[in-house]
Amino acid sequence: MATYIVLLGPPGVGKGTQARILSETSKLAHVSSGDLFRENLKNETELGKLAKSFMDKGELVPDDVTISMIRDRISRPDCEAGAILDGFPRTPAQATALEDMLAEFGSEVNAVPYITAAESVLVERASGRWTCKAQGHIYHEKFNPPKQAGVCDIDGSEVYQREDDKVETVTKRIRVYFEQTMPLVEHYRTAGKLIEIDGTQPVEQVTKDLLAALKR
Ligand code: ADP
Ligand code: ADP
Repeated sequence: MATYIVLLGPPGVGKGTQARILSETSKLAHVSSGDLFRENLKNETELGKLAKSFMDKGELVPDDVTISMIRDRISRPDCEAGAILDGFPRTPAQATALEDMLAEFGSEVNAVPYITAAESVLVERASGRWTCKAQGHIYHEKFNPPKQAGVCDIDGSEVYQREDDKVETVTKRIRVYFEQTMPLVEHYRTAGKLIEIDGTQPVEQVTKDLLAALKR
């Protein structure tokens, strides 16, 4: 049976960083809703144009388009063994849609690591984040700078600061997270799937805790 892991946590806590590492060690596909929206933005698709107006304001893209984008993505062959979902679901309606989708495949959400950190840590991380243009590799100006300033270590493309990583937008996104995504924490706790992880630790320690928790 396929394995589906939902990484839950506020903006900037380190979900993308950990999802990439877990995906490499587990061979599960990394499915990031934010990356998919940014890809659509770059390719100037209709979905990208629609998403941009919400992303720029730090608001969530409407559930219907988000759900159908994820449905398409997890139906691709590279998700046959399962996936690490990063940034989805983010609302109760998305969680229900995910459960329905996976039930169609005869699967379910297996585990939900919930990574946490204080708001000041989130703002410092997200506002110092640098993202690679070609493939979304993640850096931080202080905690994880690229070897050569402005250039991705992995694919040599330019790194840029996301429009929505300005302090004001990050603060708004954290508020949106508390209002719209927090109910999922209780939802998955009640389902016995939530695993709390201390996200304030260095990247390597967070990975160790995640791997140990997922083994159990
Ligand atoms: P999210 O996907 O949850 O928004 P990211 O993985 O993109 O978070 O990380 C946000 C920023 O914080 C990035 O600049 C990343 O390099 C940095 N970061 C991630 N995890 C850690 C950590 N454990 N310690 C310090 N910085 C981190
Ligand atoms: P972060 O890594 O900081 O958590 P993301 O890259 O996941 O941020 O998301 C960036 C933006 O993309 C969000 O502010 C929102 O506008 C949009 N987005 C991403 N995932 C979702 C989702 N599941 N539902 C609605 N909007 C989303």
